[in-house]
Amino acid sequence: RSSAASDVYKTQINNLNKFYYSGNERYHALRDIHLELPEKGFIFITGKSGSGKSTLLNVIGGIDSYDSGEFIIDGLNTKQFSRRDFNAYRNSYIGFIFQEFNVIKNLNLYENIALSLQLQNKSVKENHEFIMQTIQSVGLEGKEKRKMNQLSGGERQRVAIARAIVKNPHVIIGDEPTGNLDQKNRDIVMDILKETSKQKLVIVVTHDKTLADKYGDYEVTLKDGKIISKKEIHKVGDNYE
Ligand code: ADP
Ligand code: MG
Repeated sequence: RSSAASDVYKTQINNLNKFYYSGNERYHALRDIHLELPEKGFIFITGKSGSGKSTLLNVIGGIDSYDSGEFIIDGLNTKQFSRRDFNAYRNSYIGFIFQEFNVIKNLNLYENIALSLQLQNKSVKENHEFIMQTIQSVGLEGKEKRKMNQLSGGERQRVAIARAIVKNPHVIIGDEPTGNLDQKNRDIVMDILKETSKQKLVIVVTHDKTLADKYGDYEVTLKDGKIISKKEIHKVGDNYE
């Protein structure tokens, strides 16, 4: 499908609100959110703890519902989405890199990544080359037979990224995907996501603004459930690459 300039923002969030209810208390978690999502690039969602970052990411990922406003995916209003539509969306449109969505201990590295395809009813055999290519793209070639306990934390996180990439989704999202990593592994993982964001949209939540400055194309900052700034990060020298 072509992407004419006029339909660059086919995915957008308009005036969206979300509440959490517990007992007879109501908490206004997302307030009047407006956000346009480009087809590719690296978006960081920043803000202090409790500002609503995970909630917004979960709405974008189709994991959480919203209460009012619009969430339009590829020109389709999700108001009309059935549970099945949302399942399909999560299954094929989004690649998740959450810590909880992590790797399965009893499978080896190759199997963990292949599983992501099997869950989409895709043939592992037919996609063997692509799986190997993905393993190489996250720098884990030669470690295909290793079990998860034979990998470092940084390597396991790269397996999680490879699982997201191999699905070939439109959007890859991660909630603090480098939260548990040391600086060296954090840089490796961010470099992989940066590279990925040249082909796809990557959206990452972090409380670390320096990551957004270093790697982001866009930074969206939340405070008390509201977007308080949206900025496009222009880097000096980019024009000369
Ligand atoms: P962040 O990721 O920025 O730390 P969250 O999106 O997790 O923030 O949470 C935003 C606010 O919503 C917080 O005040 C949090 O306590 C509240 N919250 C999150 N999840 C729930 C829930 N399931 N029920 C009630 N309140 C919640
Ligand atoms: Mg969070």
